[in-house]
Amino acid sequence: MTPHVLVVEDEEALALLLKYNLEKEGYKVTLARDGEEALVVADEIRPDLVLLDWMLPKVAGIEVCRRLRLRSEARNTPIIMLTARGDEGDRIRGLDQGADDYLTKPFSMNELLARLRAVLRRIRPGLAEDKVVVGDITIDRAAHRVKRGGKEVHLGPTEFRLLEYFMQHPGRVFSREQLLDAVWGSDVYVEARTVDVHIGRLRRALNKDADGDPIRTVRSAGYSLDPENQNA
Ligand code: CA
Repeated sequence: MTPHVLVVEDEEALALLLKYNLEKEGYKVTLARDGEEALVVADEIRPDLVLLDWMLPKVAGIEVCRRLRLRSEARNTPIIMLTARGDEGDRIRGLDQGADDYLTKPFSMNELLARLRAVLRRIRPGLAEDKVVVGDITIDRAAHRVKRGGKEVHLGPTEFRLLEYFMQHPGRVFSREQLLDAVWGSDVYVEARTVDVHIGRLRRALNKDADGDPIRTVRSAGYSLDPENQNA
């Protein structure tokens, strides 16, 4: 699963340069041009990481950082602040408001990419590693294999991507719309019902040779992968 990065930058040329380079590295990128837009978009896309400019129109970067940290779903989202200021006091203020790292402009693209990988590895090991284990389920992304309780599970490509996404956020409840965006992409038109069909297939495949259903249906909210709270 490609990590989804929200880039918040009002300088158009830099925003496009960041998007280009991050996409080349295999990240999915969404741009926001000011602090207000960033807060709305972050809620919609639930990014895996936020690159946040300090000097932004409408709502300053540091305030965006502070407000994101107050939201339960964004509390642990890695945030790297970008700024033209090299001031040590600002750096500390940024980190105080919950930023995970800090880059002073101008920075090299290689340095940015290295920091981004380091932050993702530290905070979301599941995004950087090929093999992810949640409960009795193991997914090996490099080999494209899934096992439950040591037994091979055969999944279609969409079910594989669904499981991959769930495995990165165990216990978190996703609406059908969020799953559509994350697994099918926001540019594709797919009915929300389609999600139910693929969840059904994923469930049958996972539960074929094992006891307990690791996928929880949350009425009127959506689905979550919750192997610790299985409904037998
Ligand atoms: Ca700026």
